[in-house]
Amino acid sequence: MSSTLFEKSHSGRRGINIPKQVVADAPSLDGSLLRSAKAELPELSEFDVVRHFTRLSNKNFSIDSNFYPLGSCTMKYNPKVQERVGGLDGLANLHPHHITNNKTSLVQGALKSLKVLENYLTEITGMKAFTLTPQAGAHGEMTGVMMIGAYHKKKGNNKRYVIVPDSSHGTNPATAAMVDYDVITVKSNKDGSMDLESFKEAMNDEVAAVMMTVPNTLGLFNPAIKEICDIAHSYDALMYYDGANMNAIMGVIRPGDIGFDVIHLNLHKTFATPHGGGGPGAGPVGVGERLMEFLPDLTVDFTEEKGYFFGEVSKNSIGKISPFFGNYLVLVRALVYMQTLGREGMINASRKAVLNANYILSKLKDHFDAPFKNYCMHECVLSAESLTKEHGVRAMDIAKYLLDFGLHAPTVYFPLIVKESIMIEPTETENIDTIDFFCQKMIDAVELAKSNSEAFKNLPLTLPISRPDETKAARSLNIRWQA
Ligand SMILES: *Cc1c(COP(=O)(O)O)cnc(C)c1O
Repeated sequence: MSSTLFEKSHSGRRGINIPKQVVADAPSLDGSLLRSAKAELPELSEFDVVRHFTRLSNKNFSIDSNFYPLGSCTMKYNPKVQERVGGLDGLANLHPHHITNNKTSLVQGALKSLKVLENYLTEITGMKAFTLTPQAGAHGEMTGVMMIGAYHKKKGNNKRYVIVPDSSHGTNPATAAMVDYDVITVKSNKDGSMDLESFKEAMNDEVAAVMMTVPNTLGLFNPAIKEICDIAHSYDALMYYDGANMNAIMGVIRPGDIGFDVIHLNLHKTFATPHGGGGPGAGPVGVGERLMEFLPDLTVDFTEEKGYFFGEVSKNSIGKISPFFGNYLVLVRALVYMQTLGREGMINASRKAVLNANYILSKLKDHFDAPFKNYCMHECVLSAESLTKEHGVRAMDIAKYLLDFGLHAPTVYFPLIVKESIMIEPTETENIDTIDFFCQKMIDAVELAKSNSEAFKNLPLTLPISRPDETKAARSLNIRWQA
């Protein structure tokens, strides 16, 4: 490009005025408050800072750079349009007090975004209403189980237990314990579902709730789910749906129609907010008729005359469970995701997620142990048990092998009920080339285990940090960065 533009504008002939450097007046402060020596601030050029952060960002392993089939975590691609909308000035720079100080005329758009999201979630799940404020899946679980507690307390029910299947996510029994229930664990049957007979035996008048993940953490849909709901309700126990695996069933079945009383969703999983490494999340909780009056504080209502406003809080509400509106921008991103895909797009996403997982299962089931061979939902579980017995190569070794090929490891050793488990969730956003490459590397790993199991000892070879001594890492953890 020629330099004329700069020269012309500099001379003012194009009417562009370059302002003088602005220097703020020093505030008139009491002398005792002023420093006498110059502050020791790091002196770095913009360029050094950009290089520093770019280098750090390159150390990050993310869905934008690599395949990330981490079972149970739904590491799908997050379209950038959500980020763009979430970053709009009027949304990103909204002060929390704007949204809660009842000057609702200033924030009609933000309140509308919340109401529309609530309506979508209600429609997708078949529940009656949602609270959007919980800030993670586990936080949603706690909110839901607190509402269940409030329900039983109001009815004067004497309840002590929460039932979970042995395939449940660790947060389920942890939540029940935090809300002061004792946990009854029911074993799974050979098909990977909670064993119906054992469930019936465990059920009693003191059971407050049954917490189920559907499809469960083995990637399987429980065919007896309706019957389980009916049995629980006959004891006035409520049904909790852990909806972290909603990606398998969006637009296909609705937990509310099956008879569940309460559900949490992980917007940061199914509805595409970047997560992993502990970023902000959102775990909205939907309720059926029985729990409506216990919803936490902060709901949005709408009438023609008043526009959008904060709904009346029921006298039986469990109160506030988050400051302000939780992680508002995660809610915005989920809304944009839903509006971008639309009804058909969301159904399509679930179907493809299930298709991709089944494709992987069918390609790998003869190479690994496959405890549930026939079909799966959005994720499949394999096992390295035979490899371990015959060649001393464990699930963890297979996981490390993949790292050298730019593949994130699948989840290993969870669910706990499958020995040497390898849990793979490809999501709908991966194409067949990526999935074929992954499957080939998994098969190569098995071949290597058979021919040279010693080769796994020091993997990965190509990453800046090689294989840590896990015993040492657990016993004398040092989290300080060492250059
Ligand atoms: C991820 C997950 C959770 C917990 O969600 P967080 O947002 O991590 O708290 C609960 N249950 C299941 C089945 C999950 O996969």
